[in-house]
Amino acid sequence: MEERTIQVNHCSTRKEKPKSDQLQFGRIFTDHMFVMDFTDPLGWHDARIVPYQPLTIDPSAMIFHYGQSVFEGLKAYLSPDGDAQLFRPEKNLQRLNQSNERLCIPQINEEFALGAIKKLVELEKDWIPGSEGTSLYIRPFIISTEPYLGVAPSRRYKFIVILSPVGAYYKEGINPVKIAVENKYVRAVSGGTGEAKTGGNYASSLKAQEMVAGSGYAQVLWLDGVERKYIEEVGSMNVFFKINGEVITPVLNGSILEGVTRNSVLQLLKHWEIPVTERKISMEELRQANKDGLLEEAFGTGTAAVISPIGQLTWNGQHIYINDGKTGEIAKRLYDTMTGIQYGMLEDPFNWIE
Ligand code: PMP
Repeated sequence: MEERTIQVNHCSTRKEKPKSDQLQFGRIFTDHMFVMDFTDPLGWHDARIVPYQPLTIDPSAMIFHYGQSVFEGLKAYLSPDGDAQLFRPEKNLQRLNQSNERLCIPQINEEFALGAIKKLVELEKDWIPGSEGTSLYIRPFIISTEPYLGVAPSRRYKFIVILSPVGAYYKEGINPVKIAVENKYVRAVSGGTGEAKTGGNYASSLKAQEMVAGSGYAQVLWLDGVERKYIEEVGSMNVFFKINGEVITPVLNGSILEGVTRNSVLQLLKHWEIPVTERKISMEELRQANKDGLLEEAFGTGTAAVISPIGQLTWNGQHIYINDGKTGEIAKRLYDTMTGIQYGMLEDPFNWIE
């Protein structure tokens, strides 16, 4: 059975909204949330918008033991006309279902879920902050709720969407960061869950991040899990390099998460007729390109920062300095164009906005 209607239960008191300039990431939540349940054999049912509240879950629920869960992250932006804008939300729902497939979680109806997100965002529109660079972060997620300690796919789930007003990522302008290349730990391996957005990937990434944070590095650069040779991602972003006029990003190989921003950046670069290639790229190739003076830019891409330029990479004690620690031309153009489209300040040639 597939539920088509969404019951709405309004909260009785509204929370106070934070000031736009004091917003951080993911600490404050809006008045309402969307919830839908899955039970076997009924399917997804009881779609509802309810006041934001704690969940009551059995301690034996499978999510607490074996981590069968998936999530997404996207944003609603306020346009100059005061409209709520979503950026390619259908891509996030497609990816959610791809993650579901990998984690043995039942598929959701993407169109229905998008309708639910739109309805929730519309209801919480006053929560979309208005100052520059701020937005309403949307976190859809699914957890396994069957009370059972056997290692098997759960037969019960909850699909929930919560919303959080978030501050500008760059408070003092877009800024290149220092990155440590990680040689010991890996984020994912081919055949594992790296392609899926599931909690365990993030749990296993914390250690490496913790180790370098104390030395002033913003993130780690992840290498492949077999040889520690090829570049995969940077922190929780995809990564791009400009070498001798050509933009290169690691080809999707089963352990890299396909970012919506990555996909959009590839489309923009092709549209601008800038040479761009998806292929394997090794740290050794990068080191050599830098030595030859050909490494022109490096940047990460993701929903949070959009574009995050890399000013320095440290690999086995060697420092690779990129573009004198300044933001590159392509990174800047991509950042301005992507944010311009997201906030409704620029034309949207690819119909990315809903
Ligand atoms: N890689 C990882 C591991 C991520 O968590 C994210 C953030 N979702 C990305 C890349 C970038 O994806 P997107 O552009 O869709 O935000």
